[in-house]
Amino acid sequence: MQTWFGKKASAASPRPPKDRSGIRIGIPKVLNVWSTHQFWVGFLRDLGISSENIVFSSDSSEEQGREFGKGRGTVDCCYPVKAISGHYGELVFGQKKKLNIIMSPMIYSLPSFLRGHVSETLSCTRVMAGPENIKAGFMKERDIFAENGIQYTSPFVSMAEPDVVPNQLYDCLKDVLDLELAETQHAVEAGYKELRAFNKKIRDESRKILEWCARENKPCVLVLGRPYHMDPGIGHEIEGDLQAHGYPILWLQYLPIDQDLLDWLFGEEVQAKKIRSPLDISDVWTSSNSSNTNEILWGAKFATRFPWITCVLRLSSYECGMDQPTYTPTQKIVEATGTLFFKFGDLDSTKPAGGIKIRIETIVHYLAKYSDRIIQKKLALLPADCPLLKEKEKSLAASSSQD
Ligand code: SF4
Repeated sequence: MQTWFGKKASAASPRPPKDRSGIRIGIPKVLNVWSTHQFWVGFLRDLGISSENIVFSSDSSEEQGREFGKGRGTVDCCYPVKAISGHYGELVFGQKKKLNIIMSPMIYSLPSFLRGHVSETLSCTRVMAGPENIKAGFMKERDIFAENGIQYTSPFVSMAEPDVVPNQLYDCLKDVLDLELAETQHAVEAGYKELRAFNKKIRDESRKILEWCARENKPCVLVLGRPYHMDPGIGHEIEGDLQAHGYPILWLQYLPIDQDLLDWLFGEEVQAKKIRSPLDISDVWTSSNSSNTNEILWGAKFATRFPWITCVLRLSSYECGMDQPTYTPTQKIVEATGTLFFKFGDLDSTKPAGGIKIRIETIVHYLAKYSDRIIQKKLALLPADCPLLKEKEKSLAASSSQD
């Protein structure tokens, strides 16, 4: 068997470690690569591919689509999938140093923090099929990848089931990267480790923000969207415009899930057996198949309870079929405690800057006017011992004992 870098892969094992230092691999930074990219970095690095040779495409933009994706797109689809063609084109035509491989994973399921409390953690079907869908635009007349000396690969991967991932990646990548199963297993473990470490780091940062809000009695804003709304070309940085007015922003994907905090917010409902655990969403969402959707619903539950989240921004993309049924439930959950709810739907390639500016001004007005009242109302619904205020209480006690 001839691999792309000219070595013969023998069937005999074990073999010495492969030198993959010369391989350059591009990954389109689209869809759920936004929530799993640390896995792919950890996986590839463990296989000996250096960090500088792991190339992610840029953030989505109209220019990227115009320059690299034109004529190769898909019709009748949501904008985040349409935007993929620009990412593929940029990796093929827009690199100073040529890539050897483009790897665009077909992510079937996701490693959600809600796993075990929902029926499934699947990706949207458009996320699963997006790579194949867009690949067609680069192969329908002739193979653009091969013409440019690039091997295209699209591993199907059930990321919610770590036990099956090594075999899935081995089957798809063994010839592309001259892999052995044992090293694939090791690399998959390394990938999950990196992903877990990254998620924990960001959750810890989110907790620090929430602690600051509690200590200073200041409001913050939670974004309810899909991970790829963090892409400035998909979410249009609407939350950044609000942050510029001094309101800290958090994303639901990285809310802290420490037990003390969850017990404070959900403990009474667990004790009353209304829910099985703080991460249970069966009280508000019974068709819990989609990972991102489940997390959005859970984020709404967190926001409506947490006192210092006084406003929720709901982001959604043009022609997103998955989001449609969630609009009313998320709004009702969030507004149940008077928390402000603002939706930016049908986000497309163009940032409607004027409209966003006016709405941001409106949101800022409401935040300034109602936040104190919302915080007091929500605090009254919770037990008195907020874990985020313990540090403040300790330091106050220490300073009064010194007096
Ligand atoms: S969840 Fe919505 S925006 Fe995302 S890929 Fe599916 S249909 Fe498109």
